[in-house]
Amino acid sequence: MNILIINSGSSSIKYQLFDMPSKRVICAGAIERIGSDEAIFKYKAKDVFVEEERKIHTHKRGLEEIADMLRDTHKGVIKMADEIHAVGHRVVHGGNRFSETTLINKEVKEKISAFSTLAPLHNPANLEGIILAEEIFPKASQVAVFDTAFHQTMPKKAKKYAIPTALFTEHGIQAYGFHGTSHKYVSERALEYLNQDNPKMISIHLGNGCSMTAIKNGKSVDHSMGFAPSNGLIMGSRSGDIDHSIVFHLTEQLGYGQHAVKEMLLKKSGLLGLTGYNDLRDIQAEAKKGNADCSLALEMSAYRIKKYIGAYTAAMNGLHAILFTAGIGENSSILRKMVCQEMTYFGIELDDFKNESGSSGIREINTASSRVKILVVPTNEELEIAQQTFALCGKLGKGF
Ligand code: AMP
Repeated sequence: MNILIINSGSSSIKYQLFDMPSKRVICAGAIERIGSDEAIFKYKAKDVFVEEERKIHTHKRGLEEIADMLRDTHKGVIKMADEIHAVGHRVVHGGNRFSETTLINKEVKEKISAFSTLAPLHNPANLEGIILAEEIFPKASQVAVFDTAFHQTMPKKAKKYAIPTALFTEHGIQAYGFHGTSHKYVSERALEYLNQDNPKMISIHLGNGCSMTAIKNGKSVDHSMGFAPSNGLIMGSRSGDIDHSIVFHLTEQLGYGQHAVKEMLLKKSGLLGLTGYNDLRDIQAEAKKGNADCSLALEMSAYRIKKYIGAYTAAMNGLHAILFTAGIGENSSILRKMVCQEMTYFGIELDDFKNESGSSGIREINTASSRVKILVVPTNEELEIAQQTFALCGKLGKGF
């Protein structure tokens, strides 16, 4: 069964075509920096490797270019669109409606659209991916895998806000949690690696969006993002935690409109707001050259992560492992070092040499004496989505 996975993010589209159940990757790629004249188009199939700059200003254009490449006579891997049997879509927000992987129909699309109010940077891009995939692959089953699903196990004391209870019961205002596909995948890989009974783990997903999850007995028990994927850690362009009084001050005293506040907090804050850059590679390079704003942004990011490690260690009454994952977590030895510095009270001791030496799989970067394991675990949201899509198609008798 050929399953195409589309992970349509705020500024990127990642895609992979899997042969299931073998899990063989037929081709894979990504488009990064969508919206710029220098978007990077990547495609890798058996004997073909493409990486080039292209002008890709919209997600729609990006998906069209991916579909063209899949069907390309020389570099492609399929002849006809009908050879794609199912498309698994990463969908960020499933609100209270979706706690499981779901076959997409009209009602599901309407709900995903409605939940755009909760995830304005993501759900519209996810929905666009779905609509276009339906056009290009009309015979394929379209399946949505929700980022919110893994966090359904959070206890009420963690997911409820201290606001009038009616807002929770009648309007579903609560913490939902995000990046669930990634946190689930990396924590399962870590469980296999650690081979110990019910370890208490904190997974730290640091990509363009950033979040942390406290995981006990393999289940999410607390999480840094809440009602929408906007609070918690400092992100590429999102502020993460702020005092909500700032919103009142901006609107009541400084003349900000509601829309301007939203734009500022979601698109002009975080690393971008602090430094003018939202790509950590640029910030690290600038910090090295002596840019004080960039150095401080790195320090602030690491400090916020440290505080959540402290909070979640308390929440779980212990800690056996921390897991770094996603673009920054897997690649930035600098940030990992800053996070793990002066954490000996928690039993976290980084091995500097191991931290610097990269390898492709899961790797342990703590010292031999560290009480807590520090693991770099490459995330693979696409494989997780493929597995869930395959399982659902099997359950619904849509196998091939
Ligand atoms: P993701 O959302 O997981 O694709 O991660 C995107 C983020 O990862 C961007 O902010 C990139 O700057 C960051 N990133 C990717 N590669 C590296 C690297 N080698 N060093 C530091 N950050 C990186």
